[in-house]
Amino acid sequence: MTIDRRTLFAAHAYLPQGWRRDVLLEWNEDGMLTGVVPDSPAPAGAPRASGPIVPGMPNLHSHAFQRAMAGLAEYRAQASDNFWSWRDLMYRFAARITPERLAAIARWLYVEMLKAGYTSVCEFHYVHHAQDGTSYGNAPELGQCVVDAASQAGIGMTMLPVLYQYSGFGKREPRPDQRRFVNTPESLLDLLLTLRRARPEHGALTYGVAPHSLRAVSAASLHALLDGLDAHLPGAPVHIHIAEQTGEVQECLAATGARPVAWLLDHADVNARWCLVHATHIDETETRALAAAGAVAGLCPTTEANLGDGFFPAQPYLDAKGWIGVGSDSHVAVDWRSELRLLEYGQRLLLRQRNVLACETRPQVAERLFDAALAGGARASGRPLGALAPGYRADWLVLDEAHPSLDGRQPGDWLAGVVFCEHGPSPIVEVHTGGRCVVRGGRHEDEAAAYAAYREAVSHLQG
Ligand code: ZN
Repeated sequence: MTIDRRTLFAAHAYLPQGWRRDVLLEWNEDGMLTGVVPDSPAPAGAPRASGPIVPGMPNLHSHAFQRAMAGLAEYRAQASDNFWSWRDLMYRFAARITPERLAAIARWLYVEMLKAGYTSVCEFHYVHHAQDGTSYGNAPELGQCVVDAASQAGIGMTMLPVLYQYSGFGKREPRPDQRRFVNTPESLLDLLLTLRRARPEHGALTYGVAPHSLRAVSAASLHALLDGLDAHLPGAPVHIHIAEQTGEVQECLAATGARPVAWLLDHADVNARWCLVHATHIDETETRALAAAGAVAGLCPTTEANLGDGFFPAQPYLDAKGWIGVGSDSHVAVDWRSELRLLEYGQRLLLRQRNVLACETRPQVAERLFDAALAGGARASGRPLGALAPGYRADWLVLDEAHPSLDGRQPGDWLAGVVFCEHGPSPIVEVHTGGRCVVRGGRHEDEAAAYAAYREAVSHLQG
């Protein structure tokens, strides 16, 4: 009997119904799972997973170039450093990006993501133009570098070109340091379609759009963008930064009479295709309405903590059956385990309770949050991700069963060890995307070359 190369036998696998024994996985040449059967006899000669396997995590929010400035804004420059003073520094960094530097930064970032167990990423890409603000000869030059970096590293991608049109509510003129971001809905759609012709969709790549925020688009331009998107890519994902800062909420109230999430729910058909990134500042009415809409709240707890944004009301939102996913955003951390841990710890510190984000039917906090982030991350990605089941992408992580956080424990405690224990090296030792192993023994196949190129790019940016 010949064994198909696209077969794996796992003694333990985390399926949608929980941990199962003796699972046989099969996938096709497009990297999609075709069979996932628990309680299977191991076919003679079939490859065996070296440890328990779990689905790979989708990362729902990334600005790749910001990886290069992680850790460089951790000093006090003025008495009240805040998000807006951080943004000035980030803009100075953005001004120095070139296609070559962005390609190198993104390639290394995606290697880091894969090593951490992110197997797919939604790239919220807003640096579009040359340094003087004019369009590149190939308009999506920078976006294309990012798409190519993802394919080189072996991570799946949902590419979201960003519409940035104004510097504030009331159609304020863009600032000079925003010139690389600025488009009209028409020029942004052109850029997206040009990129899509050059890099067509496949099993590991899809497209959507991102109106940057309510301060950066008008009601008219938001609708023009959505209509244009639906003419070409009906149902494609739409992501937006929504309520990260209290200052932004106050400005929105002053300009429109409504809070950002409330305004968006009233003025757009917000549904499962939407991801509201940093829905941090929502009141009780918005919490219930956002959950009912089926949109994903895109949470980036490590970045939100780093920037001093505030707390998302995760408990009432999850209790209202709201969808969440996690992203690494500014990349101060590239680790979904840290995002989930901080999401729960933020609530514990705030409420002075433990296991806040568990519920009656899901007492294991880590499993509830892991499942929620897989499902929400997949929904935000607009691709069949986040489950070991037929029809889904063959993306999985192999855990080290001998790691001190798992060793000698029952399967029901493994995810708690993975998420909440911070002891030594990561328990994720292998990462597979589209059925292909890209991280083995904790190392990515392209790690050394990717890091050398990244190091070179960063030295120019800081120089
Ligand atoms: Zn962001």
